[in-house]
Amino acid sequence: MRHRRTLIILGCVLIPAAVYFGQFESTSVCTTCGEAQSTREFQIPFTRFTYFATRSRSATPLSAAINRAGLVPATHSHQWLFANGGGNGIMCALGSGRHVRDTANFPAVATFVTATVTYRGQSAAQPWLAALLDPNRTSDFSPAISSTAPLGGCPTQAVYDRWRRDVGEVLDVLAQALPP
Ligand SMILES: [Zn+2]
Repeated sequence: MRHRRTLIILGCVLIPAAVYFGQFESTSVCTTCGEAQSTREFQIPFTRFTYFATRSRSATPLSAAINRAGLVPATHSHQWLFANGGGNGIMCALGSGRHVRDTANFPAVATFVTATVTYRGQSAAQPWLAALLDPNRTSDFSPAISSTAPLGGCPTQAVYDRWRRDVGEVLDVLAQALPP
């Protein structure tokens, strides 16, 4: 009887401790639409065995722009790429998705995509999108784009044309490195 009570008491302490310390939290990003996903995995402590996981998705400025412009089918199957995570004995795990996630969170990048679709059409925006969502290329494009995109967007063709003239040289150099 005493033995059983000890086991119950140990279970009451050890199981919550295992649940608490065995959590691995991570973020990832979809390389098709730029949406972000947060994942909490409940794992056996100090193993990678996950017995339960919760996931929540959230829009980024870029994914919102992509959806508004209809650049990606709403029904596509998300291609999640690990960005970063930690917990359950891991201090800080980094994945190449963090580059795409950072790009997706730049409001100016979203502004650039919206303006390109609005005034140049979807086909003109697709190569830029392919570069911005490519983990190996996005860092070559997003800093320059986010520093040149008009903060207030391009409400009219005249505003777009003026902005395009001002930053044309920068965009032309970047455009030469776009995927075919
Ligand atoms: Zn997606």
